[in-house]
Amino acid sequence: MKRKITKILLSIIIFIIAISIKVENIWIKPILFIVSYLIVGFEVIKEAIENITKGNWFDEHFLMSIATIGALAIKEFPEAVAVMIFYNIGEIFEELGENKSKKSIADLMDIKQDFANVKLEDGKIEKKKPEEVSVGDEIIVKPGEKIPLDGVVISGNSMIDMKALTGESIPNNVKKGDTVISGSINLDGILTIKVTKVYSESTVSKILELVKNASDRKAKAENFITKFSKIYTPTVITLALAIIIFGALSKTCEMTSWIYRALTFLVISCPCALVISVPLSFFVGIGGASKKGILIKGSSYMDILANLDTIIFDKTGTLTKGVFEVQEVVTHDISKEQLIEYTALAEHFSNHPIANSIKKLYTGKVKINRISDLQEIAGKGIKCKVDGKNILVGSKKLLEEQKIEILENEKYTEGTILFVAIDEKYVGKIIISDTIKEESLDLIQNLKKLGVKKTIMLTGDKKEEAEKVSQKLGINEVYSNLLPNQKIEKLEEILEFNKINKLGNIAYVGDGINDSPSLARADVGIAMGALGSDSAIEASDVVIMTDEINKIAETIKISKKTINRAKQNITFAIFVKILILFLSLLGLTNMWMAVFADVGVTLIAILNSLRKI
Ligand code: ADP
Ligand code: MG
Repeated sequence: MKRKITKILLSIIIFIIAISIKVENIWIKPILFIVSYLIVGFEVIKEAIENITKGNWFDEHFLMSIATIGALAIKEFPEAVAVMIFYNIGEIFEELGENKSKKSIADLMDIKQDFANVKLEDGKIEKKKPEEVSVGDEIIVKPGEKIPLDGVVISGNSMIDMKALTGESIPNNVKKGDTVISGSINLDGILTIKVTKVYSESTVSKILELVKNASDRKAKAENFITKFSKIYTPTVITLALAIIIFGALSKTCEMTSWIYRALTFLVISCPCALVISVPLSFFVGIGGASKKGILIKGSSYMDILANLDTIIFDKTGTLTKGVFEVQEVVTHDISKEQLIEYTALAEHFSNHPIANSIKKLYTGKVKINRISDLQEIAGKGIKCKVDGKNILVGSKKLLEEQKIEILENEKYTEGTILFVAIDEKYVGKIIISDTIKEESLDLIQNLKKLGVKKTIMLTGDKKEEAEKVSQKLGINEVYSNLLPNQKIEKLEEILEFNKINKLGNIAYVGDGINDSPSLARADVGIAMGALGSDSAIEASDVVIMTDEINKIAETIKISKKTINRAKQNITFAIFVKILILFLSLLGLTNMWMAVFADVGVTLIAILNSLRKI
């Protein structure tokens, strides 16, 4: 970049000297012009030739090269030099814009710690690359360092900052036994962490992978530019030739003047402003979102998000907090403590929000060798053996399938009920209840303002509970008692319905527990609270790191803004191009004015893209 600026300055100085000196010798001026031309033009011509050998004829380097060489040939020396100088200045702007956008995503990339302090058996510490650390190794993280790999704290106490991951700036306290996620910054204490995931499976590497691939999935506006320049450039070249032929036939004015007009045409056809500013708008959009803890896996999803018709929500953990409080424990021929113990053991390996709440209820120590033959039945519950006894914990359906009679009549009680059976005999139930996230209500209101026409809730929970939640929130449609495969069937139905009726796009919002297939199948899958959940990060198209559901509205807003900017840039650039083409046809503009305009448009478009999102 510095070299380029020096070259431009040098070229400008020689150019000014060439214009201003008065000499007798007719060779001096042209030589000075050609020297200043080559200083800035050599690279461009070289690039054009390289691209031609690759079969890529109509790129901007090629256009600039023939236009300026043509100008030199008809002895329009100052024109040729000025065009090259402006073109180079334009390229500088492009680079600046690109660096800026890469940087905003690189800010996020800054989550990687380049080394891990691994504790060796003799107590010494060795610095290793995170890629070389194995599961089970103990690492030390000092204050100010980023946690290099996912793991569990085995000693120490500290505040950690997860802002780079979640966009949320309030630090968290962690102590012995807590899980920590790579990419968080250790603020004050010294932590010893037992590594639970190798680097390639750790959160940091997953996120970096995701961001790196984001630019592969191009939005329509970006594809439009590629198509546009494929048609546009050859068209303008043909028109330029037509102008020369027309000039040769009409003989109205001198031939060089017609050639000049044709060359101006070529200069104008250079699509620089579009080529740079449109992808830049998307870069900035994706970068801005990632700073808020929203990862969008490609600009094509911004197109979809900006035009959503329907949003489908999962209930538990998405619209509700997913933190269940125990309301009541009812038992038969067994003590409360025993019921809780068996249930907690059965739920020990499950990550379901229900399981997490039950585990908290049990204060005793879990000996995992008491648990065997474990089976988690998605959307229903758990089947396993504890101390050799057959245990079932889950929905009414789960027990009924095993022909286990539930003794009492189930009168409707608010909340979710877990039924428990030991050795094929019903022994009691735990009534738990979840609360709606306060933000959910705001979100549903905001979505309407953002043009979303329909909201739908799908849940595996029972009908009464589902309806209670959807009514409180003002959700349009609700489907309950769905097993994970039925959720996806329902989603297929809705997708089909929207397709037949030519309605807009469908988003599915879930927490990745039991609903990864739906996240993957929808037009756009949004995973909530995905920090630490690999399957959700992989299956979804948009990852919201925290469980702040209001960020969905934010995501839609950012997408709309981004698409608008890209469109503004396209319209503005094309308008100016056509205007100048028209002026040049009438002979009212000259070649370097044309480049000047292009550089100007590029700059304005870049500035427009770089505005804070
Ligand atoms: P949602 O669709 O609301 O996210 P799920 O499909 O995850 O709900 O679960 C549906 C129902 O299945 C729960 O309401 C519960 O009755 C039962 N269930 C699922 N997982 C478990 C579990 N680990 N322990 C007990 N019950 C469970
Ligand atoms: Mg769920």
